[in-house]
Amino acid sequence: MDYYSKQISKLIEELSSLPGIGSKSAQRLAFHILNMPMEQAEGLSQAITEARRNVRYCKTCYTLTDHELCPICKNTGRDHKTIMVVEDTRDLAAYEKTQKYTGVYHVLHGAISPMLGIGPGDIKLKELMQRLQEDVDEVIIATNSSLEGETTAMYISKLIKPTGIKVTRIASGVPVGGDLEYIDEMTLLRALEGRVEL
Ligand code: ZN
Repeated sequence: MDYYSKQISKLIEELSSLPGIGSKSAQRLAFHILNMPMEQAEGLSQAITEARRNVRYCKTCYTLTDHELCPICKNTGRDHKTIMVVEDTRDLAAYEKTQKYTGVYHVLHGAISPMLGIGPGDIKLKELMQRLQEDVDEVIIATNSSLEGETTAMYISKLIKPTGIKVTRIASGVPVGGDLEYIDEMTLLRALEGRVEL
């Protein structure tokens, strides 16, 4: 890309390192940014740096947040005895969009995958088990219906069973391998309402 000046090439290179951004999209984005009013470009770079600097895991549920506790864990109006286990923060957002779930969450940040070498120790599972030492009525396992999601659900239910806490799994009908965040709200609600005890 030596037909572009060094700084333009650098911007394109950084953008093309993002997931789903090929070199054509990166060039389009780069020129879009270069044509932005200066304040807008500064706003964009500031939003990236500030989010990266301040966003961390919630101390309780491990979702991404910019405070010690996320707004859901902080909310005393929610049912803190019902914990829904999801793979990532985007899945949590998908359930929140339905505005029907009143419990709290636990975000694993991944799923067990022997093929990719991701074991139980690589996701926030120990942290979930620690939470279960408090007063908990039900754990709803809402991992994806992919092979990894199912493996993780099975593993978690085996871990929790001996504690006597009720463990449920959201109903299938959620497309196999489908990321929860792409599924419409009705399907999510049906999956939640049709959950079965493991
Ligand atoms: Zn939280």
